[in-house]
Amino acid sequence: MEVSGTVLELIKQVREPNRYPTLAEILGRTRSLGDKRGFHIETIGQSRLGRDIDLVSFGTRGQRTALLSGFEDPHEPICSLSMIWLWEQLVDPDSPIHSLGYDWAFIPCLNPDGVLRNEQWFRRPGDLRAFMNGSWEDELPFWGAPQHPEEHALEEAIVRTRPELLFGMHDESHFPGHGYWALVSDEELQEQLGDHFAYESRIGVDPVPPPVKSQTMRNNWYFGRAHGLSGCCLSMICEPRGYRQLSPPHDPEESVRERYKAVLSEYEQVLREMAPSSDEEQALVRCATSCLDRMRNERLFAICVGACGLRSMREYGRKEEANSIEGAFWGYLNARLHGTYVAIPIRDQVRIQLHFLFTVLEKAKSRGSFNCTRSVPSP
Ligand SMILES: [Zn+2]
Repeated sequence: MEVSGTVLELIKQVREPNRYPTLAEILGRTRSLGDKRGFHIETIGQSRLGRDIDLVSFGTRGQRTALLSGFEDPHEPICSLSMIWLWEQLVDPDSPIHSLGYDWAFIPCLNPDGVLRNEQWFRRPGDLRAFMNGSWEDELPFWGAPQHPEEHALEEAIVRTRPELLFGMHDESHFPGHGYWALVSDEELQEQLGDHFAYESRIGVDPVPPPVKSQTMRNNWYFGRAHGLSGCCLSMICEPRGYRQLSPPHDPEESVRERYKAVLSEYEQVLREMAPSSDEEQALVRCATSCLDRMRNERLFAICVGACGLRSMREYGRKEEANSIEGAFWGYLNARLHGTYVAIPIRDQVRIQLHFLFTVLEKAKSRGSFNCTRSVPSP
């Protein structure tokens, strides 16, 4: 059997977890690799609040390196399960993963501060109320020139490993998920992902057209340009989604919407009045404030994530007010959602991410360079 067939067979063994790992568990798993044969752990930076950001490497055979970065978005936890699965394979000397012919590097958690702010719902995946009360979104793009310590850490990892494949392990497991998409910076390779797209259709997740094209991805990729990797490193992203939309969200009764809108104005006022003192409160209030426009436009994801300011209100001793606002947000969401979405098993989301990775690794193996531009017909 060919190598990719063997590795892809393995994906069937991914089990359904009952929740996502917490930051402490991710760090524990990472550190425990230190005494395993072939693994090397180093610290490549600190988060804005001073938490370590680690780089795990495996393999010293001088093969081409695939660098996987987790938690570029701290509310997207599928990466941790995919990485833990890959580590279990790498620890096993008989695993067919070793025949792929790659060295590996992993950043298990690029945004530890943000993961801590999301942990509450990681413990209760699929529970929308837990998501509304426990999620938080960051503003780091990991795209242009680094401005924040976490972006510098990614750059440091790229400099140290000189990867030929850079995998940003995003996902849409958070509610409601905009839709599955998979993207590589090389157009020719993008066109060879047919087997992969057929795979996810088989497990019931339909791909949607990616919001950007290979060309855009390549043009915006600061790190490739800055480190002379533009022609020799493939940049790739895969976002399995967490929910299947069964029908368009319901229109809520006018009274529910009116109450939501009224409470949103009240919430906005409170956010403006609060003068958060700690870094933690500032982060929550900043995220909530940045969501307000999308909340006014009744975007479901923004309503859930933007509710993070309620946590700050409770810290501020405005618990009753926070509870009342939360009730109105929840009432509105409930009216929109009843029976409209169904959760996709977590194991399928992990399988999709791994299937994408192995498909690209296999297709990329025979390539000497990446990011070719299709010849554009002259006007
Ligand atoms: Zn993302």
